[in-house]
Amino acid sequence: MTISRREFIKHLLLLGGAVYCNPPPLWAAKPKLTPAYANLARKGELADRAASAYAVFQECRLCPRECGVNRLKGEQGFCRAPAKVMVYSAQPHYGEELSLVGAAGSGTIFFSNCNLRCVFCQNWPIAHEGRGKVIEDHQLADIMLKLQQIGCSNINLVTPTHVMPNILNAVRLALAKGLHLPLVYNTSGYERVEMLQLLDGIIDIYLPDMKFMNDEKAATYLGGASDYPEASQKAVLEMARQVGDHQTDQRGTATRGVMIRHLVMPNNVAGTDHFVRWVAMNLPPATYVNIMSQYRVDYKAFEYPQIWRRITMREYVQAMEWAQASGLTNLDPKSVEAWRFYKQTLRNEPS
Ligand code: SF4
Repeated sequence: MTISRREFIKHLLLLGGAVYCNPPPLWAAKPKLTPAYANLARKGELADRAASAYAVFQECRLCPRECGVNRLKGEQGFCRAPAKVMVYSAQPHYGEELSLVGAAGSGTIFFSNCNLRCVFCQNWPIAHEGRGKVIEDHQLADIMLKLQQIGCSNINLVTPTHVMPNILNAVRLALAKGLHLPLVYNTSGYERVEMLQLLDGIIDIYLPDMKFMNDEKAATYLGGASDYPEASQKAVLEMARQVGDHQTDQRGTATRGVMIRHLVMPNNVAGTDHFVRWVAMNLPPATYVNIMSQYRVDYKAFEYPQIWRRITMREYVQAMEWAQASGLTNLDPKSVEAWRFYKQTLRNEPS
C-alpha cells in the first residue's frame, strides 16, 4: 500500500485520535483480577496440567506437526526448539489491540523458534533463526512477575505453542509469588485441540491468527502446513468454547475472550472473504476480529510473486467491506479507523 508522507502522518493522527477519543475513565479504579489459572490452582489442578504438558515433550506432539521427537533428550523437531524455554525479549508493548495495551502496555514475552515458520515472517530472526536466550522455568516466572510489577495489563505470550509446558510450569511458580494478571495466548493458530484442552481454565484471552483458508496456499506459504486451515478453525472453536467472546473491565481493558487476527495479503491469497464468512457462520456475530493491514514483504516473501508487494488501499477497503457484509459487528477499532481513512483517501483521489 503506497501513501504519501502527509497521508501517513494524517493516518497516525487519526489512529491516535481513536485512542484519545476513548480514554479509560480516570475515576474507574483498577479492578482486582481473578485470573482463570488462580481458580484452577485452588482446585489443585494447575500442577497436574503442567506435569501432563511436560510429559508430551518425550514424544513431542504439542502442535499439528506431531514430530514425535524426544525433546527432553535434545532431539529437535520442525520448530528446532529445545525442551528448555528460550526467550528473545520481554517488555511492555503498546502496538497491540487497544484493550490489550490498557494503561501501561501489554506485558509481551517473545519466545524464540516457531512451529509454523511462514515464508513472509516479520520476526524471522527470532522465529526461524531461534535467536534468544535459554532460561529456566523459574526465570520465566520471574519475568512474568516483573512485567506485572511495572504495571502491564496482562502477560502476552507470543508464539507459545512449542513451549506451552514451560509456560504452565512458570505460571504455577509465579502464581505462588503473587501473579494475578490475565494470560494472553498469542498464537499463529496452528494448534492441536488436545493440547488446547490442557489450557482450559488457565488461559484468559486467546489471540489466534487465522492466516489462510486454503490448503494449497497454506502449504506454500506456511512451511508446508497444508492442514493449517482445518487445524486453525478447530483450534479457534475450542478457544471460543473455553473463554467465549471478548470481555473488558470498566476501563476498557481486556479480561477474557477470543480476539481473532487476520492479515490481509496481496491478491487475496489469505482468502479474507472466506475467513469472514467462516467466522460469521461458526461464531457469534460479536466475535472480536482484527483485520490487519500491515503486511510487508519480508524474509523469503521476495521469492513468491503473489506476495512480493504490500497491499493496496483498495484491497484493504474491500477486506473490511467483506467483513461488514458478512455481519461481523465487533471489528477492531483501529482497523475501522484505518478503513475510514483509506476510503476517504480513495474518494479524494483524482479520477
Ligand atoms: S512443537 Fe516442535 S517438535 Fe513439537 S510437534 Fe510441534 S514442531 Fe514438532
